Amino acid sequence: MRTYLDHNASAPLCAAAREAMLAVLERTGNASSVHGDGRALRAAIEGARGTVAGVLGVEPAAVVFTSGATEAAAHALSPTLSIAGRQEPISRLYVSAVEHPCVLAGGRFASDRIETVAVTEGGVIDSEALDAALSAHDRDAGLAMVAVMAANNETGVIQPIEEVARITSAHDAILVVDAVQALGRIAHEAIIDGADMVIASSHKIGGPQGAGVLVLARDSLRPQPLMRGGGQENFHRAGTENVAAIAGFAAATSLFARNLDRMSLVCNLRDSIEAGLVTISREAGSAAPVIFGAGGERLANTTCFAVPGIAAETALISLDLDGVSVSSGSACSSGKVHASHVLAAMGVDEELAGCAIRVSLGPESGEECAGHFLDAWRRLVQRLDQSTRAVGT
Ligand code: PLP
Repeated sequence: MRTYLDHNASAPLCAAAREAMLAVLERTGNASSVHGDGRALRAAIEGARGTVAGVLGVEPAAVVFTSGATEAAAHALSPTLSIAGRQEPISRLYVSAVEHPCVLAGGRFASDRIETVAVTEGGVIDSEALDAALSAHDRDAGLAMVAVMAANNETGVIQPIEEVARITSAHDAILVVDAVQALGRIAHEAIIDGADMVIASSHKIGGPQGAGVLVLARDSLRPQPLMRGGGQENFHRAGTENVAAIAGFAAATSLFARNLDRMSLVCNLRDSIEAGLVTISREAGSAAPVIFGAGGERLANTTCFAVPGIAAETALISLDLDGVSVSSGSACSSGKVHASHVLAAMGVDEELAGCAIRVSLGPESGEECAGHFLDAWRRLVQRLDQSTRAVGT
């Protein structure tokens, strides 16, 4: 039996998304063709746009489909914006220190035009620091753009987007919100209301990989296109549309309300996992787990913890052999594991950060998932205890 507890990395494809995708894959054609086959695919895209717009409470024209949140970030973080038909230079980008790498990279901003805003030990953006940075911003050089995530992928820490929006609006700054981990897990109304642009990803919410969205929450605003060529997506994004992925993504968004209803159960499960970790450490006489961001608001589905002395790599391998899929708190891409910039920004020392494990549940996760994880963790702690004693004798 395998237990999948890595929903923040990628969630399983939900049945509604699979069904919507299969219906599109049965069809042939290009959505830009004028014949009936093309028109059927065009209708599928516009239907999906209507669904996503309806769920998010925006106009269909605000929804720009992309290949994922990374592309949506690269598109949104544009040093020139058209605002009410006027080309406005954006002279500086301010990003919180805990953003996903696709936002930290700054899109089309040169690196010397990107400024990082600190977070507190709890992983929440330091709003005084943001206010001070925007007060010092040289408005004559251009507008400021601020990018803050709604919830962190590693720790689940939720950012105070309403407060951030009040600060950015007081300074006429453009606010881009990465809502990738927040959608379907917390209410999104305040995020959409406060932001100028929002990015989201299909595969974190039960849709297929390779689809995402840039939501232009202010209708007068257009970033410069990233992909130029044909006039697809109302000239925002050239290229033949991935219709099946778009349809699957839209079908997954229609489950947000149901998923939100399940979050209190998911929260109980997450809390039972954290309580179980404390018990296992106590029984083994080992150090208590440190739970990152636990003092503040967190996504119900996420726990990021470290037990001093249990290296994340050892734990990942052992849990995997026991049939449990989780992530380390370190960033791992292209096979290289780096210390987590998120935990470093929260002031966590490198040794403890090297022990960080992220468990992320899904709306379908049940008690058996928590039980399987805790059994596997208990076995790991017992094995490590035995090998320490064997070395000591
Ligand atoms: N933003 C956050 C918070 C994420 O967790 C991720 C994916 O891990 C992304 C952006 C990038 O999303 P995508 O995989 O769709 O490019």
